[in-house]
Amino acid sequence: MERVLIVGAGFMGSGIAQVCAQAGYQVALMDIQPEVTERALKNIGWSVEKLVAKGVLKESSQQILARISPEKNLSSAVQADWVIEAALEEEQLKRGIFQELDRTCRPETILATNTSSIPITRLAANTTRPERVLGLHFFGPVPLMRLVEVVKGEQTSPQVFERGVAFVQSLGKTPLRVQRDVPGFVMNRIFSAAFREAVELVEQGITTPEDIDAGMRLGYGWSAGPFEIADLAGLDTVARVGQSLRALGENHLAHSPGLIERMVAEGNLGRKVGKGFYRYTPDGKRMT
Ligand code: NAD
Repeated sequence: MERVLIVGAGFMGSGIAQVCAQAGYQVALMDIQPEVTERALKNIGWSVEKLVAKGVLKESSQQILARISPEKNLSSAVQADWVIEAALEEEQLKRGIFQELDRTCRPETILATNTSSIPITRLAANTTRPERVLGLHFFGPVPLMRLVEVVKGEQTSPQVFERGVAFVQSLGKTPLRVQRDVPGFVMNRIFSAAFREAVELVEQGITTPEDIDAGMRLGYGWSAGPFEIADLAGLDTVARVGQSLRALGENHLAHSPGLIERMVAEGNLGRKVGKGFYRYTPDGKRMT
């Protein structure tokens, strides 16, 4: 059975670990904060049990959880066939992780990143195997969202790109092939442009987040509005993606610094802390 190492056990890393384990992969889950990995294992256990109870999964939760091992560092990278990097959206941090992975992993290991905005080519440049580096951009919550963008860096080989597509399918997800490496890929470019305008309309006092969310649901058939999506993603991550897009020269996609940054400074990071644009109960249900 193939082995997958997930680097970063936050909102996305824990979800990616879960769907990989559900699909039968042997998973190593690593975070620089061991308590984050511990919390991820608890959340995965809770989520898997719900899916087993609903009859979605055929195996027992114990069988699935037994395939995930928590790690405190990257030493297990040597055993990995696949690595999926899902650490914070900071280019310098990710560059360092890719350098270390390249040193530790076997030459045949494929290195993927779940970055929301950073071109794959820039991260691949920190390795001696840019042909084996690609983007696998999942959507949160990963166990529920069926799309994954498969992103080709300038030097990603066609074989590795197609293996990425097959890997995504093996998880029961639908791949969206991104054939050229642009910041934000396809889906985040579209979302960020809409979100940038939504933030602007709120900052100018023209309307409210609640009305925009209702408008996008009722008027355009989105299943959630942009502020609901941002609350779920985490406003700290949303702020980092905006900074990253600006640093990459994509000002027309990045929300203007202001509202989101003030909310982050106040600790209102969204659903994970119980308060963002909306309020949530401790188990994540929307209150307002
Ligand atoms: P998060 O803050 O929940 O988790 C990030 C984790 O990375 C943290 O637990 C942190 O301790 C860990 N980390 C930091 N440095 C590390 C290192 N050197 N080694 C290992 N772990 C390290 O963030 P997230 O929302 O899970 O986002 C992770 C990545 O996924 C980012 O690149 C983000 O842009 C991308 N992404 C996020 C979403 C979303 O909806 N939140 C969607 C798609 C992609």
